[in-house]
Amino acid sequence: MILPMTKPAATTDRQLSSSDHIALEDRYGAHNYHPLDVVVHRAEGIWVWDVEGRKYMDFLAAYSAVNQGHNHPRIVAAMVEQLDRVALTSRAFRNDQSSLFSQELCELTGFDRMLPMNSGAEAVETAIKAIRKWAYTVKGVPTDQAEILVFNQNFHGRTTTIVGFSSEQQYREGFGPFAPGFTLLPFGDAEAVERAMNPNVAAILVEPIQGEGGIIVPPQGFLRRLRELCDQHNALLVLDEIQSGLGRTGKLFAFEHEAIRPDAVAIGKALSGGLYPISAFLSNDEVMGVFTPGDHGSTYGGNPLAAAVGRAALKVIVDEKLVERSATLGNYAIERLQALDSPHVVEVRGKGLWIGIELNTAARPLCEALQEQGLLCKETHENVIRIAPPLVISREELDWALEKIEAVLR
Ligand SMILES: *Cc1c(COP(=O)(O)O)cnc(C)c1O
Repeated sequence: MILPMTKPAATTDRQLSSSDHIALEDRYGAHNYHPLDVVVHRAEGIWVWDVEGRKYMDFLAAYSAVNQGHNHPRIVAAMVEQLDRVALTSRAFRNDQSSLFSQELCELTGFDRMLPMNSGAEAVETAIKAIRKWAYTVKGVPTDQAEILVFNQNFHGRTTTIVGFSSEQQYREGFGPFAPGFTLLPFGDAEAVERAMNPNVAAILVEPIQGEGGIIVPPQGFLRRLRELCDQHNALLVLDEIQSGLGRTGKLFAFEHEAIRPDAVAIGKALSGGLYPISAFLSNDEVMGVFTPGDHGSTYGGNPLAAAVGRAALKVIVDEKLVERSATLGNYAIERLQALDSPHVVEVRGKGLWIGIELNTAARPLCEALQEQGLLCKETHENVIRIAPPLVISREELDWALEKIEAVLR
């Protein structure tokens, strides 16, 4: 249907300024975020433009959801093409995209099977259900006694079950009562894990590098030790690679840095290149085998639009060698930032293009100063600046940004 052309209303979106939009959102939206006051109107690759046409480099990449760059043309094309055919079937029927998406994702990652969901938190919830059912039906843990070992400063999402085992006071406060069955341990402390092992432990659930925790890299050998402990005690090693996975750390998965294989992994974020919420739980046959029809599901999970987008997003990671780019550019950036002489910097750490600059002062004012200069960074944990640009960034563009960061930190 073609609508008749009418005179634009007094206020179309176009005519509102950034401050108008900020006022509207503050008036009508829930105040569950404290964003930088940049109102994005459009984006392309590593760049975003605000309502007034100011251009910024995106150094956050939507928490690594846009590893492929904003609106990657190949992913957009696949999405538009699929939109013209069919977007949603529900899993009551099959579709000709999720079949291929499952195959391509498993072949790329080396896991036997995948279960598609939408948000990262849902992939983690799927992991928790798989772990528990595996504990009861395969390992033989007594009913409702399964225990999952997790770590301080973890971030696995925002559902009530997940925040129930957060060590972050604010994530929990006011949202209880919480589900039992989780034991918090110090991150990076393999001996504490060894002491916590008992016959009811079904799994260790861990981020290989803690992102929201402040880009915390555990001691070398930690993951390898967790793998050994899981093997000794017949428990599953389940990794949350929702942010660390799909190239961010300079490997397809961060677990490759220690040359181990987990039993299962949760992924999301860059699985769509930022164009659609897509997540997945990947595992071997034994773990995924616990699910029977009716056990678990999602109306939108595995829909043909998501699957077509996911297929294209994975192809871009491979074809544009984003994993290799992250490794090369990441090493370069970390070395350069570590060489910086700044009174504010406590530590520079990370892997690939995923770098945390820990400061002895609040990071927010520095992020605001960088915003003034056209660089969008977001602090994590008060005093850490997180560097995580889209992996399609060029060396010259990275240099431009590093110069700005170095200047602000000096
Ligand atoms: C972002 C993130 C999640 C949650 O993903 P959502 O899509 O926001 O639900 C879970 N785990 C990790 C490590 C993450 O970075």
